[in-house]
Amino acid sequence: MTASKAAISVRGLQKHFGDKKVLTGIDLDIHAGDVTCIIGPSGSGKSTLLRSIAFLDPYDGGDVQVFGKLIGWRETPLGRERAGVRQLAETRRPLGMVFQHFHLWPHMSVLNNVTLALRLVHGVPRKQAEETGRAMLEKVGLSTFADRRPESLSGGQKQRVAIARALAVRPRAMLFDEPTSALDPELVGEVLSVMKTLATEGMTMVIVTHEMGFAAHAASRVVFMDSGRIVEEGPPQMLFATPKSERLSQFLQTWR
Ligand code: ADP
Ligand code: MG
Repeated sequence: MTASKAAISVRGLQKHFGDKKVLTGIDLDIHAGDVTCIIGPSGSGKSTLLRSIAFLDPYDGGDVQVFGKLIGWRETPLGRERAGVRQLAETRRPLGMVFQHFHLWPHMSVLNNVTLALRLVHGVPRKQAEETGRAMLEKVGLSTFADRRPESLSGGQKQRVAIARALAVRPRAMLFDEPTSALDPELVGEVLSVMKTLATEGMTMVIVTHEMGFAAHAASRVVFMDSGRIVEEGPPQMLFATPKSERLSQFLQTWR
């Protein structure tokens, strides 16, 4: 297979749960430095697409290449086999992930949450890991929170810690699945603002979001999904101002 030049390249991606087809042949290229917002109704397959890109669930057909490497499978003369744990970890390494719920360890300090993967997975010595961790906390505006426990933080602060944790291992691309959907409205802005800064710095980002204002201002490209496929995609100005499909027009109505 020839390696794609895109940072993330999705071809003919299919996924089903039992009889239910959830992704029905997705083609998508994410280029380095792009900020791609994925929008669409609940149940349209946005999370499944993101999870397939990181191979958190095995997809059933098609290819996903992450920085030129097929993720999740290895090609053998007899066909495709599931990749081993090490190969999967290796191909997944360039991807940082942030979810709706923050999944912080409650019994650990904020700094330990941020440095855990660096120390345990990447074998970085504690002192060096903590330097990186503090730098990442500074980046998300939480440098004075290093010694706090997650429980003493607001939802917005917890999500910024989760972003710092993802950044600590120096990902080449970041995947966000509704990072602000679990937050009280007044806390959404601080998280979006951190994400906007990352975007400005050139981070490659794929963001599933219902924040249409953010998509309009921060995205280089918006992808609209419905029923397991990409219905429309393009620059936000175009997509939001002149939707081509009835389905997208309807969807946008509900957000105006
Ligand atoms: P979205 O993120 O756009 O709301 P999802 O990707 O979560 O959509 O889900 C797409 C469809 O797949 C939904 O119909 C959902 O019920 C189904 N689905 C998602 N995960 C599973 C699962 N683990 N088992 C069975 N069905 C699932
Ligand atoms: Mg979802």
